[in-house]
Amino acid sequence: MSDQKSDVQMEDIVSLCKRRGFIYQGSEIYGGLSGTWDYGPLGVQLKRNIMNLWWKMFVDEREDMFGVDAAILMNQKVWQASGHVDTFTDPLVECSNCKARFREDQIDTSKCPACGKTETFSEARQFNMMFKTNVGPVDNESSVSYLRPETAQGIFTNFKNVVDSFYPDLPFGIAQQGKAFRNEISPRDFVFRSREFEQMEIEYFIHPDQWEEEFTKWVALVHEWCKQLGLPEHFVHELEVPEEDRAHYSKRTIDFEFDYPIGRKELLGLAYRTDFDLKNIERVSGKSMDYRPKDGSDPFVPHVIEPSFGVERALMAVLVSAYTEDEINGEKRSYLKLPTHLAPVKVAVSPLLKNKPELVNKAREVYAVLKKEFGNVMWDDNGNIGKRYRRQDEIGTPYCVVIDFDTLNDNTVTIRNRDTTGQKRIILDELVSELS
Ligand code: ATP
Repeated sequence: MSDQKSDVQMEDIVSLCKRRGFIYQGSEIYGGLSGTWDYGPLGVQLKRNIMNLWWKMFVDEREDMFGVDAAILMNQKVWQASGHVDTFTDPLVECSNCKARFREDQIDTSKCPACGKTETFSEARQFNMMFKTNVGPVDNESSVSYLRPETAQGIFTNFKNVVDSFYPDLPFGIAQQGKAFRNEISPRDFVFRSREFEQMEIEYFIHPDQWEEEFTKWVALVHEWCKQLGLPEHFVHELEVPEEDRAHYSKRTIDFEFDYPIGRKELLGLAYRTDFDLKNIERVSGKSMDYRPKDGSDPFVPHVIEPSFGVERALMAVLVSAYTEDEINGEKRSYLKLPTHLAPVKVAVSPLLKNKPELVNKAREVYAVLKKEFGNVMWDDNGNIGKRYRRQDEIGTPYCVVIDFDTLNDNTVTIRNRDTTGQKRIILDELVSELS
């Protein structure tokens, strides 16, 4: 594990991602579309592994969590009630000389970063970051909808449905993963600030008297999540957001920050949002959001603790943490020291020589068995064996299995370990259990 963030340059990560099929620029063939990214075969697998790990940890392994998958397009009243239509804005400034636009808090406004002229910026205006669209063939005010800027509202609007279907005891949570869209003024820093990204959010409904103890539990859970991602503890920091910087409905917010090569930045957020959202839904929909305790005590609108995770920022932190350089026999090597449960390819299978049919056939047999057992197994017979190892190291494959002439005689294969580069021979019959 690299111990200093200065070890890893953003360019190393970006070029590895492109070269090896993790992440490509969106619409690259037409010159790109700013703030959008396409995931290649390895990127989509890594992203899925992260999302599945989250679902397993926060939904599957818990009794008190319910998953939902709400529509991305929602009735515009959702965004009126939540305050997004009026206040989901960033301060926009425009250079009067070159017309370039920036987010005011991201630049030094005394000099335009695009044309270099000084004192060209006017007063900031508030720019709403929601992507607006129309639902159906009629283009008028009542057909307006938005691509959701957060997944959370799809949870709040289903609170009553889940309570009516399952009648869970408090506290309980509703979890959702999915795309979110924000028309960021200046998307930047690779996938860190994109216009289309993926969130994993939980609204954890509680009795207001319990908010402090529940909040503390979530702080610990967030740290456990970071550990499962393989992020070094000393790269993860809690930023207690001061009252003046918090959203007006939040009584406490902690931003969990990570030491990215671009600096210490928000990885995810944890907020106590009180009953702000459910109360807004009551106000605008006219429907009661009361929860009726089973012991017959008075109904009340639950409060929420909201851990809000961004997939891209997690993925970037995983790559930064895993990116390692060392020297093997005097040769420089860079590789991804990914935790095995996140690696997009678990095992690569190779015949030592690809022009020997007896080796290829045997290797194909082994490949078929492992593929069935582990799924993410790659067939790799490109280039010589040294090149294959290098390539597999670079994409973070923990193990390579090689079939050689000895295999044909004694039914043993070589397993090579990514991190130590050490190799050992084991009997084919024990291969699956050894890799497990
Ligand atoms: P920032 O201050 O960096 O713009 P935010 O405070 O607006 O982020 P939240 O609204 O709290 O972010 O969103 C929750 C999470 O969603 C963030 O912690 C982050 O992981 C992710 N996220 C938000 N905006 C983006 C984006 N433009 N690109 C990628 N991930 C994002």
